[in-house]
Amino acid sequence: MIGAGVMPDVQLAQRAGLQLGERGGVRCSAGLETSAAGVFAAGDICEYESIVHGGAVRIEHWDVAFNHGKTAALNMLGRDVAHGEVPYFYSVFADWGELEYVGPAYAWSEEIVRGSLADGEFTNWYLQDGVVKAALTFGRSQDLDPARALIVAGEVLDDAQRGALADVDADLEALSARLS
Ligand SMILES: Cc1cc2nc3c(=O)[nH]c(=O)nc-3n(C[C@H](O)[C@H](O)[C@H](O)COP(=O)(O)OP(=O)(O)OC[C@H]3O[C@@H](n4cnc5c(N)ncnc54)[C@H](O)[C@@H]3O)c2cc1C
Repeated sequence: MIGAGVMPDVQLAQRAGLQLGERGGVRCSAGLETSAAGVFAAGDICEYESIVHGGAVRIEHWDVAFNHGKTAALNMLGRDVAHGEVPYFYSVFADWGELEYVGPAYAWSEEIVRGSLADGEFTNWYLQDGVVKAALTFGRSQDLDPARALIVAGEVLDDAQRGALADVDADLEALSARLS
């Protein structure tokens, strides 16, 4: 398997005088507006100030591009909303199944595994200083909503709560609801 990187083509935006960001995209506000008032960006090219991550992000996921379009459209209509979706992607891995991810974690200090690869079902949690930053799952889609809620909550998990992340019988919906 080969993972090949890509770079967004920002030449047109550059020639139009739009401000670019440090991650190679077109610099946008939390509401996806570029440096030119009334001009919005969406998808791979959009480097926006994320209220979820507390800084600028540029994400190359199909679902992100789809949801950017909705936020940009609302703001074109004058709604003044920040893009608050937790980035998500899925990818089909040959005959093995579907891999899904919410995040992203740019850095993490701890990984916690729920389930096992041998069983064909697992979620790998990525935490930075006790805070859930991302989750990658294979066969455990039910962990994604709690993961989104935990990422948005940004709370430091104690030992028992981190233990629940590893326990396939623990109620993650209840845990994430308590912390949200
Ligand atoms: C090999 C590969 C595998 C991927 N796998 C996954 C995956 O498994 N899961 C996932 O979530 N995401 C995946 N992605 C990422 C996903 O495809 C992108 O995040 C998504 O397509 C971005 O949508 P977009 O609209 O921003 O850009 P695009 O889909 O690239 O659309 C941009 C369009 O603008 C057109 N365009 C560019 N410049 C001009 C111009 N000057 N005038 C007019 N038209 C122009 C282009 O031709 C293109 O049609 C993958 C990407 C690649 C390359």
